[in-house]
Amino acid sequence: MTTFGIDLGTTYSCIAHVDGRRGPVISKNADGDDSTPSVVFFESATNVIVGKQAKNVAKISPELVVSLIKRSIGQPGVELRFHDVAHTPESISALILKELVRAAEESTGETVTDVVITVPAYFGVREREATRNAGQIAGLNVLNLVPEPVAAALHYEALTFEGDRTILVYDLGGGTFDTTVIQMRGHDISVVCTAGDHELGGADWDAQLANWLLERFMAEHPGSEAETSEQFLQLLATEAEDLKRALSRSESKKHSMSFDRAALRVELTRDDFERMTADLLERTFAMTQRTIEVAAGKGVTSFDEVLLVGGSSRMPAVAAGLRQRFGFEPRLHEPESAVAKGAAQFALIESVKIALPAEEDGGATQLSTVADQLGISTEQVATLAAKRVTSVVPRAFGVEVQSPGHAEADADGIVVDHILKANDPLPATPPVRQYYTAQPNQTRIELSVCEQAGEVESARPDANRTIGSGLISGLPPLPKGSPIDVLFEMGETGALRVRAVELTTGKDVVVELQVDGLSEAEVAQARISVAQYQVGN
Ligand code: ADP
Ligand code: MG
Repeated sequence: MTTFGIDLGTTYSCIAHVDGRRGPVISKNADGDDSTPSVVFFESATNVIVGKQAKNVAKISPELVVSLIKRSIGQPGVELRFHDVAHTPESISALILKELVRAAEESTGETVTDVVITVPAYFGVREREATRNAGQIAGLNVLNLVPEPVAAALHYEALTFEGDRTILVYDLGGGTFDTTVIQMRGHDISVVCTAGDHELGGADWDAQLANWLLERFMAEHPGSEAETSEQFLQLLATEAEDLKRALSRSESKKHSMSFDRAALRVELTRDDFERMTADLLERTFAMTQRTIEVAAGKGVTSFDEVLLVGGSSRMPAVAAGLRQRFGFEPRLHEPESAVAKGAAQFALIESVKIALPAEEDGGATQLSTVADQLGISTEQVATLAAKRVTSVVPRAFGVEVQSPGHAEADADGIVVDHILKANDPLPATPPVRQYYTAQPNQTRIELSVCEQAGEVESARPDANRTIGSGLISGLPPLPKGSPIDVLFEMGETGALRVRAVELTTGKDVVVELQVDGLSEAEVAQARISVAQYQVGN
């Protein structure tokens, strides 16, 4: 049975598998495209349309269309209603997954069950878990998640094996941006460090351009109601994206707009476009700079390859800027499909590892059985089985503690003490941290687990987000200053386990963040209601 790799993107998604003879293959959708817009149109209470057509409908009925849902995945309390049915970011993502699966089943003739889904490397625990849940809601068996830059690197490696390499991946997609440093040493692929901004992507370039077009239009036709027409604005947004893409190919482009009886024709040059979006590009370079600095701190000071992925890295200003600012010679690496193809590669690695029992008895016969099953050579099976992918802690994690004198304490004297630091290698088991009770006669100890919310680590509580909590109660009144041990453990896939122990009684509490988010029952319920939708494109 084939395992599929899915790039569940903010603006475009893509599904692929590895074919024994042809290598990684993308399943084209019904429109004949490699990638499908991650846009969902709730046509009726039982019908949804995903993809290009849904994106077109957004121009007419924006209130029934959802885009950029990945920006909300893992955020608690997000609920959207369509035709009186409640949806979560997970269930909407599940509908996108179902459409991809449908396309893959149609083009391969196989049933899609086992999948690997990609996530941005900087996704925290909640976002990862929500992505996994989306897969389950879609009725899929999610073997694993793989960071997008790792997938891109895996695909690059499969294409051009040139021995040990250090790679910088610059991924500018539709809704997110990230840079990641990856080392490939023998069979090991490891993330050195990563940083990302999930509020920065091609959609922001579109918005800036749409604004500019609107300003020009309003300057020509002051008093026009165009600027309050939802439809006109939606149309402008889609046209801006087309115009932007055209300006990646040509130096200038003419564009016509009309509303009521007012019309305007403008000519836009690539220079104009680059000038009006320079601030956005600059933000990607600032983050790239930070990534380079963090990598240098870990002893990685040069890159054998700079890979550009994500559709927006097709904008000529990206490569030009990276060349000029950093002296890189970036290589455009199948920007729209590298991540899905790498995910397919990773999916194959996962299925080999599952099919091959424990290493010590993985004899030649088993290799060949697995090779037959998967339609690849025994050498390939052996190589894939030996692959090890290791990632890093995506951001800082810690606990709330009382520290009234601390410069970053809030009004209640609370700060967040980070126990795991961003970019610590995974699995991570930092040394036990000891804290002390703050009040006399405490009979309960509350544990509040937080993750860094902003781009930079800060002890300020408002720069962090609570992701889980626990309570040790029923304690005998403890003297002030009684010790508590806190242990953090993050597994290879980013699952977090926190344990706090009150040392005089030995009473403890464990917070497992992997099971946070939607409950199992909620996932099961969502799975049933999503299964009732007719999904098409
Ligand atoms: P995602 O973030 O969903 O993974 P992709 O990597 O598929 O997105 O990139 C989609 C983005 O790339 C969109 O914003 C799209 O407008 C942009 N894009 C695609 N092709 C071009 C191009 N030729 N020039 C500029 N932008 C492009
Ligand atoms: Mg992407």
